Amino acid sequence: MSGPADPIRLPPEPPPKPRLWRFSGGVSPPYNKTMSSVHETTVARLPARLILPLHQHIGEAADPLVKVGDQVLKGQQIARANGYVSAPVHAPTSGRITSIAEYPIPHPSGLSALCIVVDSDGRDQWRERAPLGDQFAALEPSALRNVIREAGIVGLGGAGFPTYIKLNPGHDKVIDTLVVNGVECEPYITCDDRLMRERPSDIIQGLIIARHALQARQCLIAIEENKPEAIEAMRRAIEGLENFAVVPVPTLYPQGDAKRLIKTLTGKEVPSNGLSMQIGVVVVNVGTAAAIYRAIYHDEPLISRYTTITGTAVAAPRNLEVLIGTPIRELLEQCAADSSDLGELIMGGPMMGFALQSIDLPVIKTTNCLLALARSKQPPAPTVMPCIRCGACMDACPVNLMPQQMYWHAKAKDFEKTQEYNLFDCIECGCCSYVCPSHLPLVQYYRYAKGEIWTAEREREKADLARTRHESRQARLEREKAEKEARRKAKQAAMPQDMGQQGREAKQAEIQAAMDRARQRRDEAIARVQHQREPTPPASAAAPDGSRPDDDHQT
Ligand code: SF4
Ligand code: SF4
Repeated sequence: MSGPADPIRLPPEPPPKPRLWRFSGGVSPPYNKTMSSVHETTVARLPARLILPLHQHIGEAADPLVKVGDQVLKGQQIARANGYVSAPVHAPTSGRITSIAEYPIPHPSGLSALCIVVDSDGRDQWRERAPLGDQFAALEPSALRNVIREAGIVGLGGAGFPTYIKLNPGHDKVIDTLVVNGVECEPYITCDDRLMRERPSDIIQGLIIARHALQARQCLIAIEENKPEAIEAMRRAIEGLENFAVVPVPTLYPQGDAKRLIKTLTGKEVPSNGLSMQIGVVVVNVGTAAAIYRAIYHDEPLISRYTTITGTAVAAPRNLEVLIGTPIRELLEQCAADSSDLGELIMGGPMMGFALQSIDLPVIKTTNCLLALARSKQPPAPTVMPCIRCGACMDACPVNLMPQQMYWHAKAKDFEKTQEYNLFDCIECGCCSYVCPSHLPLVQYYRYAKGEIWTAEREREKADLARTRHESRQARLEREKAEKEARRKAKQAAMPQDMGQQGREAKQAEIQAAMDRARQRRDEAIARVQHQREPTPPASAAAPDGSRPDDDHQT
């Protein structure tokens, strides 16, 4: 006997599609994401040694709080923020400080910087922790920002701007929308995709905290349409939350650039040289949101992150949860990379990343991807040809710049003209270089021009400072001279008035007489000494005419 028929379960209604705006330009390069995105994230092995640069963020380098030989616990602050735009650094594991010195760091300049080296004791022992948990809601936004600051949290999308500053719009600004950047538009990188799939509730909890700090009305979570699993996971995580929405956005590079994303979601343009706060919007990365959650609910500072290890030289590409300071060599080994065939190692993606000089550099807070490209699989470098003025670069530019004009002026070293063409609005996305049929390395020219302008600016500032110092020294000397003169006059005026002219003349005569006596005594003393020194010439030394051999010497 058959029972009552099961009610037909209809799929849930898809949420209504919000209105989106299209930014101009953009490109669609091969994304190459599945090679790493299909694997679950694993925790990287605990390294024997961690190298922690004190400058892993935008702003001033942190100040060391430890010395060589100190024992430290996991999560202990080992360098404090130095000024408003700065971030502290924490020990990623327990162990001993073995060095505080300059080491090469991952930076486009290839230069070295001060680092703290921690040798692990293998125990991975935490310092005492006191999580705030749900009590964060009772805190004033400023107190909450301070907790986030002390946790060393910076933007994990690649820029490294201290997060607590982003969460501080100022008294006069109202933030309407908190935008969460889960776009991850750059080829090869998949760490945010995996984080959204694996830890969606961490991200949402972090967003609730960030929204409280900003007092923002709504929260929009933007994810590119090519990440359906992440979209689904985040939609489930926001169920029941008011004013939270997941917004799938078109797959188009550089959709993840904050200003492009704001335009897509709100139709608003952030002013040139302006901040998104000015139009009531703040953007944070999904990794940053998860880090905020760990700081508040687990009292864990930023000591680890998701990093994609991928590329043609990597046999087992994947995402690893990595301790900050881990040497890249260890991660490449764990992902079976062939170091003997390593042609290029890039931190970040192929469009906006930069080449690293060594595999012994450490992972830092902004290392979202390590792209290892095999020498044997690299296509031959294309031949660079002259510009044919086709305009393709202009059509691809998402900032509406004139890339070919900036290129001409940068090449001619006419940096003033490059600025007239808004060089500093260029986000170095690489779309223009990507489409250029002449294979011109356009972005390299823009970076070069920016570097030259910054150098000239610094020189000008130095010269201005030297001139100001010279002028203030001259002013001080003049002032001292005037004061001396005033003191002399005051002294003269203070002489007893009843002395009269005769009295003053008598005083002068007395002084003159004393001086004459001193001079006379000195002359007598000189004469005495000369007399004692002059030898009596021997009779044989005299010539027949009475003159002596040294008589014509000048003395
Ligand atoms: S795309 Fe290349 S060749 Fe074409 S105008 Fe731009 S710089 Fe010149
Ligand atoms: S690199 Fe600069 S000039 Fe080129 S497309 Fe991007 S923003 Fe435009």
